Amino acid sequence: MARPALIVHGGAGPVPDSERQLRQDAVDRARDAGWSRIGGGALPAAVAAVRHMEDEPLLNAGIGACLNSDGEVELDAGVMLGADLSVGGAACLRDVRHPVDLAVAVMEDGRHVLLAAAGASRFAREHGIEMADPAIFITDRKRQKLLEGADTVGAVARDAEGHLAVAVSTGGRTGKLPGRIGDSPIPGAGFYADDRFGAVCGTGLGEAFIRLGLARLMIIELQHGMDAASVAKGAIDYLGKAMQASGGVIVIPRDGSPQAAFNTPAMPWAMAE
Ligand code: ASP
Repeated sequence: MARPALIVHGGAGPVPDSERQLRQDAVDRARDAGWSRIGGGALPAAVAAVRHMEDEPLLNAGIGACLNSDGEVELDAGVMLGADLSVGGAACLRDVRHPVDLAVAVMEDGRHVLLAAAGASRFAREHGIEMADPAIFITDRKRQKLLEGADTVGAVARDAEGHLAVAVSTGGRTGKLPGRIGDSPIPGAGFYADDRFGAVCGTGLGEAFIRLGLARLMIIELQHGMDAASVAKGAIDYLGKAMQASGGVIVIPRDGSPQAAFNTPAMPWAMAE
């Protein structure tokens, strides 16, 4: 038997002081939503936490996500199972109510790893995924347009069987070009899970995470025996030094406690074990 664990983050982007505690409270609620599902396995726990955060308007995922340069919301999400490296991503979604649900459906279907835009929406409809009017994602146009940088939400879980899973969802970056896809739906960049070593999830400048292959790099460091706290801190140092980028990561190693690191003023996160 393994010791179950869950860690959840709400993004490492800049936030006004007035929102800081509110965002932490939202992440605490997501941790509780995820932890209540840990008995069902690592994937249900991670997905429940992320699904919850897609409904928190102060977090940059689902409802309340940042706007692209056309003033529209385009959402990305991903999930991965450490047991067999099955993985699913969905990107550039405008009308899928819970992007993380579509990532799970892509993974379970198994033919492809990543679906985007109109084809992803079609797949969602054909697989009974809840759809939405794109207008519901915009609750406060002025605020969502001014979100500096942006954020991602993510969760990493380990269940009693020792299986690891990760789930991630984001609106990407404020003012991004329509069609831009970040690191969050791309395994090895924004997330990765392998039961033999650990599971990780990132937030920050997606282009930098993709260029560094940062999530996969972190797994290789765990594989080589580095402790999870050093892996998390080292990844963020590397992100800053190599790419002059900011962000944060969460990690759960195969054994041991969850860890978080970030190089921005704040990243709300919460854990349970
Ligand atoms: N990583 C996300 C992206 O680039 C956004 C963020 O976490 O700030 O799409």
